[in-house]
Amino acid sequence: MTDFTRTRALFDLPEGVIYLDGNSLGPLPRAAKDRVARAIADEWGQMLITGWNKAGWMDLPARVGDRVGRLIGAAPGTVVMGDTLSIKVYQALASALELRPDRRVILSDTGNFPSDLYMAEGLCRTLGPDYTLKTVAPEAVEDAIDGSVAVLMITEVDYRTGRKHDMARLIAKAHDMGALVVWDLAHSAGAIPVDLAGADTDFAVGCSYKYLNSGPGGPAFIYVAPRLADTVRPALSGWLGHEAPFAFNLDYRPGAGIERMRVGTPPVLQLAALDAALDVWDGVDMAALRARSLELQGIFIDRVEAACPDLTLATPRDPESRGSQISFRHPQGYAIMQALIAEGVIGDFRAPDILRFGFTPLYLSPEDVAQAADTLCNIMATGRWDRPEFHARAKVT
Ligand SMILES: *Cc1c(COP(=O)(O)O)cnc(C)c1O
Repeated sequence: MTDFTRTRALFDLPEGVIYLDGNSLGPLPRAAKDRVARAIADEWGQMLITGWNKAGWMDLPARVGDRVGRLIGAAPGTVVMGDTLSIKVYQALASALELRPDRRVILSDTGNFPSDLYMAEGLCRTLGPDYTLKTVAPEAVEDAIDGSVAVLMITEVDYRTGRKHDMARLIAKAHDMGALVVWDLAHSAGAIPVDLAGADTDFAVGCSYKYLNSGPGGPAFIYVAPRLADTVRPALSGWLGHEAPFAFNLDYRPGAGIERMRVGTPPVLQLAALDAALDVWDGVDMAALRARSLELQGIFIDRVEAACPDLTLATPRDPESRGSQISFRHPQGYAIMQALIAEGVIGDFRAPDILRFGFTPLYLSPEDVAQAADTLCNIMATGRWDRPEFHARAKVT
C-alpha cells in the first residue's frame, strides 16, 4: 500500500492553498530545498570546479535519468537528463528521421502541445522542402499511419483536455507500417503508469518540472530504445555526448548508448533538486497512484457537474482514456480561474476556454478535491468571477 499521507508531508505547500496545477509546475519537495541549499553551499561554494568529480556532478544526468526511468518503464542506462523538452523533441525527431532516410513525413495530431509542432515544423524547414509535418485530429491518428510516415510524434496525454492515447496500439501500428515513434511523456511521467520498454517505443522525451517536481526550468529527459542506442546519430552532437569529451578531439565520435544524447553542460542545481524530488517516489506504487488519481478525478467531476451546470466537461468520461487532469470548458474560463486562484484554489487556464485541474495523489487528498470543487461551484453560483480584476490577462495564464 502506498501511504499518501506520508508523501503529502514531504512537500512544502503554502498554508490555505489547494494546488491543482502540479501538472504544469510541481510544488517544492522539502528535500529539494535542503539538497539545493547544500549543493550551493557545500558543493559549488566549497568544492568549486572540483565538484564535477568530487560531488559527481558529471554523472548526474545518467544517474538521475535511471531514477526517472523506473517511473516510466525504462531499464537502467536508457534515459538521460538535459536541456529543455522542446530541445529534446527536436533531437529525438531529427535522430529518428535519419533512421528512415527513404521517408519524409512526420505525423502528429492537433492535440499536441504547440512547441512540439513548432519544433517539428522548424526541423522540416532545415531539412528541406521534401519534409512535411502532417497533423490530423487525435481520433484520426491511427488511420493516418501509412507507409509514407517516417516518424509518428505523439504526446500521450493532451495538455488541454487530458485525453490519453492508446500508446501500445499506436506504436504497434506505426511499427507495422515501418515508421518510428517519438513519444512525449510531458503529462505522463509521474502521472500515470508508463511501460516504455513493454510498448517497444523507439524514442521518448518528457519534462521533470510537471509531475516530477524538479522546479521551474528543471531539465528534460530522453529515452532511446536499447536496440537503437548504439547506432543512432544524436543529431545535436555536443561535446558531452562525445565518446571522450576531455580528449578534445576535433572530430565527433558519439559516446556509448544513451550517453550520446547528452549535449552540453548539465544544469547541476536543477538536477540536484530533481534527485531529491525523486526521493518522494521511493515506495510509491504507480498502480496505486493511478487508482488514487482516478478516485480524485471522479470526486471532482461528480461534484462540479452536480453543482455547476454551466461548466462542460472537456475530458473523456471513460477513466481509461484520461491522464491525470480534468478540464472543463466555459467561455469566461479565464476570469473564473482568476477568481478561483484568488480564493486559494490554484488551477490554470488554456485558451480558448479551458479550465484545467491537475490531480496529484502525492499531495492531494479527497477532502482537498471536494473543497476545491465546492469553491469553484460557489464562485459560479454567486458570479464572483465577473469582476474587472479577474478579466485582466497576465503574461502567463
Ligand atoms: C510542457 C510541455 C512542453 C514544454 O517544453 P519546454 O521546452 O520544457 O518549455 C513541451 N511539450 C509538451 C507536450 C509539454 O506538455
